[in-house]
Amino acid sequence: MEEKYGHTLVVKAIRSSLDQARQEHLQEGSAVPDLASILIVAEGLLSSWLKPTLFQVLNATGVIVHTNLGRAPLSEGALEVVRRVGKNYSTLEFDLESGGRGSRLIHAESLFQQLLGVESALVVNNNASAVLLMLTVLTKGKKVIISRSQLVEIGGGFRIPEVLRHSGTDLVEVGTTNKVHLFDYERAFNKETIAVMRAHSSNYSIVGFTSEPDIKDIIKSAHKAGLWFFDDLGSGALLDTSPFGLKHEPMVQESLAAGADLVCFSGDKLLGGPQAGIILGSKELIDQLKVHPLARAIRADKMALAALSATLDHYIKEEALEKVPVWQMISASVEKIKSRAEKWQKTLQLGEVAESESMVGGGSLPGETLPTWVLTVEVDHPQKLLADLREGSPAIIGRIENDRVIFDPRTILPQSDIDFIKVFKQTWSQYEK
Ligand SMILES: *Cc1c(COP(=O)(O)O)cnc(C)c1O
Repeated sequence: MEEKYGHTLVVKAIRSSLDQARQEHLQEGSAVPDLASILIVAEGLLSSWLKPTLFQVLNATGVIVHTNLGRAPLSEGALEVVRRVGKNYSTLEFDLESGGRGSRLIHAESLFQQLLGVESALVVNNNASAVLLMLTVLTKGKKVIISRSQLVEIGGGFRIPEVLRHSGTDLVEVGTTNKVHLFDYERAFNKETIAVMRAHSSNYSIVGFTSEPDIKDIIKSAHKAGLWFFDDLGSGALLDTSPFGLKHEPMVQESLAAGADLVCFSGDKLLGGPQAGIILGSKELIDQLKVHPLARAIRADKMALAALSATLDHYIKEEALEKVPVWQMISASVEKIKSRAEKWQKTLQLGEVAESESMVGGGSLPGETLPTWVLTVEVDHPQKLLADLREGSPAIIGRIENDRVIFDPRTILPQSDIDFIKVFKQTWSQYEK
């Protein structure tokens, strides 16, 4: 026991076990347990105290960017660089040429410059902190205009209006929930307004009698009045989603081409990289962000910078569809998915293969689905099957649709099919008895 858990913790566990026995004896008159029983209880405590909480699962939900399941899985290329940078010393803040101090801010910046032709880039801890940084540094004490249709709450309690307030920025709401016109923005321009902000309505869509002016027109108008335009894109797609039967997700390139002064987005949504907040655009503005103390507090770590750089490399080499897992999943052919579902069904000898829908998730393309094929299993207690599969190693996460348990191959990388089948078989064997 000591070898596995260390002396101090073992002593603590044995004391707890003894305390428990004492309590039970005094209060309930239970027999005094023997040494073996005391040790068994102690070992149980130790394993429950140290039970890992963060580990691999197999995502069979069909939701590609699943925030609860860690958003984007990283590419092999990204993992390789993370491993090398993590295991060894690196050039994180070291300039090889001069042999002196360098800046961690350069790492992904040059790649963004090459890939998107931007003047400047800054990578921080996540997109929530990117938004907070932009507003705190550039608009504190001033007024920022935002449409009422964009006062969004993203998961985890991140609300655009509250972040604005938190940064000391005054919010000027314009338009209505469903409609905002260019004149709504223009009427709000005055000496105190300093910027227009757009927050991509990530996780919901307003349908029906709706309209928003073209972003190009808002930007033109804002610039004419001397205001900046900041675009919080959220998912940060660098590739077009529409060839895959999805609605077009606003792309980073489009906001930049439209003239946004700053664009920000997450690293681990549709970019398909590590957790990060990425700010692109005007050098003059980004230079101000870089030197602010808040930027230091929310800086990106070396593992994230390594993974992000390697992920961007896939885009530069135009191999993102084949190498970046979220794009592999978005672009996976329906026939291939169907044949994998059939293979699961054949190997496991259970359930049926049926048509269903996968989702992009991660607060992008709400309500949009991709056609898929799934393994569906009919059991008396669907929740119980899901719970049993969650105890597998790795755990399988499925979902219930019309009282059937369904498993979507789209969100499991083909090389994990073996694990899926192994865990499913083990779990299912209890059902066959
Ligand atoms: C997801 C999202 C955020 C928050 O990004 P994190 O990387 O999770 O911090 C902010 N704004 C929008 C529009 C988003 O979709």
